[in-house]
Amino acid sequence: MLLDVGNIVRIRLLSLFGTLSVVFTGAAMVVSSPAPSQTQQPAPGTPPPANPPAASPQGGMAGSAASPFSGQPQQGGLNIVVLDPAHGGTDPGARGTGGIRESDIVLDFAMQVRRALELQGFQVVQTRQGNEDPSFDDRSATANAQRGAVFITLHVSSTGLPGTVRVYVNSDLPPVTNANGLIPWDRAQAPFLGLSRKFGDLVQGLLAQRFKGSPDTSQTASVRQLRTTAAPAIAVEISSVTVDDRAQLDRMAPGVADAIARGTAAFKPTYIVPNVPGGLP
Ligand SMILES: [Zn+2]
Repeated sequence: MLLDVGNIVRIRLLSLFGTLSVVFTGAAMVVSSPAPSQTQQPAPGTPPPANPPAASPQGGMAGSAASPFSGQPQQGGLNIVVLDPAHGGTDPGARGTGGIRESDIVLDFAMQVRRALELQGFQVVQTRQGNEDPSFDDRSATANAQRGAVFITLHVSSTGLPGTVRVYVNSDLPPVTNANGLIPWDRAQAPFLGLSRKFGDLVQGLLAQRFKGSPDTSQTASVRQLRTTAAPAIAVEISSVTVDDRAQLDRMAPGVADAIARGTAAFKPTYIVPNVPGGLP
């Protein structure tokens, strides 16, 4: 289930750094994130803190030496995959009549995806390891703190032909910037949409080979989780929680893991990690 909680207007202008001349000419980029919380996602409309701290969840981005974007541009520099088993905690996601909970299934899938990615040589960072429920912003912040990362959020739908898999990338967002070249937190994905589409199509193509009836190319949707992510980012949605026996879903996990791992490996050479002179302010 892909959630879009709608028009949460966030005008947190986060610390950012110069022009990304290597890949995204003229575009600025969000490098910092709201302070991570251990609490639930705030209700829509909750105002952001007046003074969002310019620090990463690891607290290590306060100087240029620790900036994930300092250093030289690096082609094929993709080495980290941030894997997001969606939902969790008090949010079970989609539920089937047989008691299948999306939040449980995606955690199991994530274990297999992780293993397949590690076999391809990637470092994997998970947004949750167990049945906790980090906020949307916490999950994006985990990705935005990395250099050379891609972001993959895993979902199981309540619709669609069982046994198929769809990859979504975020729909177009105008890359709004202010007079200082800052882009708001909720536009973080805008400079990456082209790369996300390329990444999504690679993974979807491999999924289509294995899971007949799946689309050949990635789809666009308004995906809340992707919007605040400053990295190539995709949502992978498996159909569906309506199966009678969860073993039908379990049997899909190795194929999904293999397609994601091989798609990520195929994407790696095309991803030039941006260099930002001076690092963080
Ligand atoms: Zn979901």
